[in-house]
Amino acid sequence: MSKQYRICSRCVMDSSDPDITFNEQGVCNWCTRYDNELSKLWLKGEAGKARLDEWVKEIKDFGKDKEYDCILGLSGGIDSSYLAYLGTKLGLRMLAVHVDAGWNSELAVQNIQNICSKLKIDLITEVVDWSVMRKVQLAFFRSGMVNQDVPQDHAFFAALYNYARKNKIKYVLNGYNIATENSLPLTWRGEYAMDDILVRSVYKRYFKKRLKNFPLLNYWNFNMTNIFSKEYVIVDLLNCIDFSKEEALKTLAKEVDYKDYGGKHNESRFTKFHQNYFLVRKHGFEKRRAHIASLVISGLLERDKAREILSKPIYNNLQEEKEEVEYIAKKLGISEEEFHQIMAAPALTIDDFKSGQKMHKKLLPYLNSFFKAGSKVKRLFK
Ligand SMILES: [Zn+2]
Repeated sequence: MSKQYRICSRCVMDSSDPDITFNEQGVCNWCTRYDNELSKLWLKGEAGKARLDEWVKEIKDFGKDKEYDCILGLSGGIDSSYLAYLGTKLGLRMLAVHVDAGWNSELAVQNIQNICSKLKIDLITEVVDWSVMRKVQLAFFRSGMVNQDVPQDHAFFAALYNYARKNKIKYVLNGYNIATENSLPLTWRGEYAMDDILVRSVYKRYFKKRLKNFPLLNYWNFNMTNIFSKEYVIVDLLNCIDFSKEEALKTLAKEVDYKDYGGKHNESRFTKFHQNYFLVRKHGFEKRRAHIASLVISGLLERDKAREILSKPIYNNLQEEKEEVEYIAKKLGISEEEFHQIMAAPALTIDDFKSGQKMHKKLLPYLNSFFKAGSKVKRLFK
């Protein structure tokens, strides 16, 4: 029997988030944070249109006499896919970069192909050496740390930003949006992914060698260039429109024959396993709660409907769960016995490794103050 948790009276976040707080009306801190801060950063209607026009002008001015106006990281997920569609509508000449870290679902590959061919977007696929990727992923899995998606996320963004820098494409479109991502507890998010020191350290602990042939992003360089906009500017266009996941899915299905994955970030086989199996079994929380709560908080999903979704088990049956484990163990190159041993072992924490996370925690308020001030950096640092 699962523990009894106190649930917010307005959204569906509950005390499975250890840091949640409730006001006298029983409304949680995520709802009040959205009301007081985030909703003001999401520009809808005319305000959004005005900001969008500013962005398009700035990006196109940069792109004059160049082959591309901007670059777009395309995972095949709903956010980046809709961004590709929006960019086309806005007349931006985009270069899509897809990073293949070996975990793409077949559907994701199909979606990416359809988007690029139907919207006539040039696509570059950067393939991460699987023999290295497998080891980095296995090292993180052995560590048991919360954010098992560090290897994938790090590789994605490192390859994308390194490509942008090398080819001097300053504007990077990013699919982050307040509509669907507004309530992820820090303890659920786990380790910060843009931390090359951590990636190297985890790898070294289990494989005793220096990490090579893996896309890495220097923490300091990445965050500082964000602030001063010297090398690249990250643009969150989805925060300038009345973004609705449901509408986006309908539009993409109609325009580019897009197929839904049935869960946030399920375009990656590993992320699906990470969210649906690993975090639930090892750390005792369901990340989908935060994804679904985000939609309730931003008014895109009714609370009753959200509760109904959450009352259903993540896997339809035991067989489905068993197949997931078989697939992941095989792909990581370990036996199912070893898989279950790792799952049962105590999880290590960030303090067991070298990392830039302490510095990141200190820097975060400053990074976010740039965002709030409405400066050139129009992006919310996570
Ligand atoms: Zn709430």
